[in-house]
Amino acid sequence: SGKKPVFAFRDTPRRMPARIPLELRRGGDWSELYGHFGEAEAQHQAGRCLDCGNPYCSWKCPLHNYIPNWLELAREGRLSEAAALAHETNPLPEVCGRVCPQDRLCEGSCTLNDGFGAVTIGAVEKYIADRALAEGWRPDLSKVAPTGKRVAVIGAGPAGLSCADRLARAGIEATVFDRYEQIGGLLHFGIPSFKLDKSVLATRREVLEGMGVRFRLGVEVGRDLGLDALLARYDAVFLGLGSYRYTDGGLPGQDLKGVLPALPFLVHNGRLVHGDDEAHGKPIAGWEDHVDLPDLRGKRVVVLGGGDTGMDCVRSAVRLGAAQVACAYRRDEANMPGSRREVANAREEGVQFLFNRQPLELLGEHGAVTGVRVAQTRLGEPDARGRRRAEPIPGSDSVLAADVVIIAFGFQPDPPHWLAAHGIELEGDGRIRVLRTNEGCATRRRGPGDALPYQTTNPRVFAGGDGVRGADLVVTAAFEGREAAAGIARLLLG
Ligand code: FAD
Ligand code: SF4
Repeated sequence: SGKKPVFAFRDTPRRMPARIPLELRRGGDWSELYGHFGEAEAQHQAGRCLDCGNPYCSWKCPLHNYIPNWLELAREGRLSEAAALAHETNPLPEVCGRVCPQDRLCEGSCTLNDGFGAVTIGAVEKYIADRALAEGWRPDLSKVAPTGKRVAVIGAGPAGLSCADRLARAGIEATVFDRYEQIGGLLHFGIPSFKLDKSVLATRREVLEGMGVRFRLGVEVGRDLGLDALLARYDAVFLGLGSYRYTDGGLPGQDLKGVLPALPFLVHNGRLVHGDDEAHGKPIAGWEDHVDLPDLRGKRVVVLGGGDTGMDCVRSAVRLGAAQVACAYRRDEANMPGSRREVANAREEGVQFLFNRQPLELLGEHGAVTGVRVAQTRLGEPDARGRRRAEPIPGSDSVLAADVVIIAFGFQPDPPHWLAAHGIELEGDGRIRVLRTNEGCATRRRGPGDALPYQTTNPRVFAGGDGVRGADLVVTAAFEGREAAAGIARLLLG
């Protein structure tokens, strides 16, 4: 604390918290990769912020966190104030601090990237929230008057949890329903524990329950309980359903033994690692067929796909003792969607990256996979999302030998059939239609002028997260849950 040294950004190098040693990771250690800052280290790292006046980091953060302000509070050791300010915009700061691709978001736009190294924004955000919560800090709702309004939140993923947090802060009682017995959605059963320790979710559950949020877990809406019953009992409903239809790429040979879809593979390992048994929750789509996953020890594993899910698969395969792990991706490294930091960690753990490789078919013998035929690609014109298309080069085929192939091509929306019966319309690709969004601080209307943020075509039903955007990020789901709660509060309270 004390007066901020003017040249801290130059005199103190950027430093992340210490990581688990490589030999432990390769030896099957599933602990969170990054450790924790101590108080002095957090203060030094936070003190590197230039407070540059026009905080590009805040603009680039989808939640528009007050980053320079809580960095300064952390530097001064004013932890409770820093935690309160961090929670003002982010209902899940300890989660985002861990899993956001900061190199593409806040840290990627830090002014210090001009050679000094960005402020370690994510690690300080994690420090503030972890430490304040461990010391007993909790959101102060003492001035919040109950309104008597009640909202059902379907889905306990980051969108649903963020919505519930904001509703509680507005004096609206939130009850969160999830088909799983655990809160977190993909935070719990998709993202491996080396990126997010599951105790973080237990703490967040306790915080939310302390704010008055109720959880009804192990309840699948549409099967155990109808949306009509929820609309009868609650004033409004929020849908944070996620996006789970697996994209298999339609490759010939995908039914061979040893070819696995990414999410069941990750769910299976997650269950083994953090001890969930089969009684915990109902199976997720596709999971039932893949309980029998192979032992990867000594095997050659090829992962197809270069997003966050692909990175989690390669790094899980390393921890499961695979002899060789390769990631094949159809574009080049610059166009890869996965976080740069995760790619660097995977490389360090021994993963081989094969860029510009388009899988053509899976090859097998006696019903079991033996390899992947791939074509070399070159990059063509940008597609609708601005990413350059991968075009296979004729005659460039080669075969990657593999005992196990994991397909991580991403997820498509899988809206439940019961939405239509309640007047909830979909976009052409299956995403839930909302009439207004608040992207990047700019309101975008897609429906009537008086539509509320994240309101669906049923005025009492709101939606956000992957079910609305398509598979994306934790921080964007948290943003949409937060903004939808503001829309719900306007509907119910005026
Ligand atoms: P989800 O997290 O999918 O939660 C939806 C919840 O709704 C689930 O719990 C589901 O059980 C429940 N639900 C659905 N239908 C019903 C129903 N009918 N009744 C009751 N409950 C229901 N993002 C990052 O920012 N960083 C990362 O490092 C990262 N890594 C990822 C790794 C993997 C393997 C995957 C698959 C995704 C990753 N993501 C990452 C993306 C991120 O996890 C998602 O964008 C985010 O979780 C979406 O939040 P959500 O709340 O919309 O949905
Ligand atoms: Fe950065 Fe994510 Fe935190 Fe925003 S929420 S400041 S993008 S780590």
